[in-house]
Amino acid sequence: MDVITQFRAQAGKKVRLADWDPDETLGMDRADAEARLQDNAQAIGKLQHRLFAEGKRSLLVVLQAMDAAGKDSTVRHVLRDVNPQGVLVTSFKKPTSHELAHDFLWRIHRRTPRKGHIRVFNRSQYEDVLVVRVENIVPEEVWEKRYQAINDFERTISESGTRIIKIYLNISKDRQREKLMRRLTDPDRAWKFDASDFKKREQWPAYMEAYEDAITRCNTDEAPWFIVPTNKKWFRLYVISQIIRDALEEMDPQLPPLKIDPAVAMRLLEDGVD
Ligand code: ATP
Ligand code: MG
Repeated sequence: MDVITQFRAQAGKKVRLADWDPDETLGMDRADAEARLQDNAQAIGKLQHRLFAEGKRSLLVVLQAMDAAGKDSTVRHVLRDVNPQGVLVTSFKKPTSHELAHDFLWRIHRRTPRKGHIRVFNRSQYEDVLVVRVENIVPEEVWEKRYQAINDFERTISESGTRIIKIYLNISKDRQREKLMRRLTDPDRAWKFDASDFKKREQWPAYMEAYEDAITRCNTDEAPWFIVPTNKKWFRLYVISQIIRDALEEMDPQLPPLKIDPAVAMRLLEDGVD
């Protein structure tokens, strides 16, 4: 089995996060993982160039995790060699009153990637069956219908040429404590502190259950979930870069051919026509 298939949640099978080790590194050492990340990041940059030039399909990467797992730094490292013209990142926060005046997918759908683009969702439609479920923001009969709505939505965008990859950054509760602590002690990180992070920690088991249901019920062939060990940053970055690289290689975007006969074009140039 290749490295990436190991982190793919098996479709049709109930996911139990207790079976997934957040400390896993598959025996790889840090230097090796960092070298592979470097190579993957460059390959992603070149593939994205082809995706953009082709202009027919797009890639959507959904990142979901408990707080402080490292979603932001993942984007920064994995997409560091991509032309900023071709990638957009959207962070979904608590919905505004304007967003709440529509169905839960409204704000999501308008931010799906256009053809040629990579779009990263930092949080996503899944918040509506995660925080919303755990916090009882809407009644069960409302969130219960959303799994199917999400599957239908993902199928729709996949059928119009969007490849979807969904990644759960699997951090342990202990490792999260260390990372939240850094927000309290490191002035560079203080701005990220959010009192609600501590409240969410108290509800850890309820969140794990909600994640297990979301991953199990919305794990389709066209929009698969990956569960990535996240406690070791270098391993997480390597695995996620590999997942994205593999998806783009499988898409195999094609550079369009020249739209003019080169001989004709040469004559035009020689004639001094602009
Ligand atoms: P970090 O992981 O670094 O803490 P973050 O993604 O939590 O970053 P924040 O600005 O701290 O970014 O928080 C965004 C908040 O918005 C999260 O607590 C998230 O649960 C919440 N949120 C997102 N979508 C929804 C939604 N549909 N309903 C309610 N809350 C939501
Ligand atoms: Mg937060």
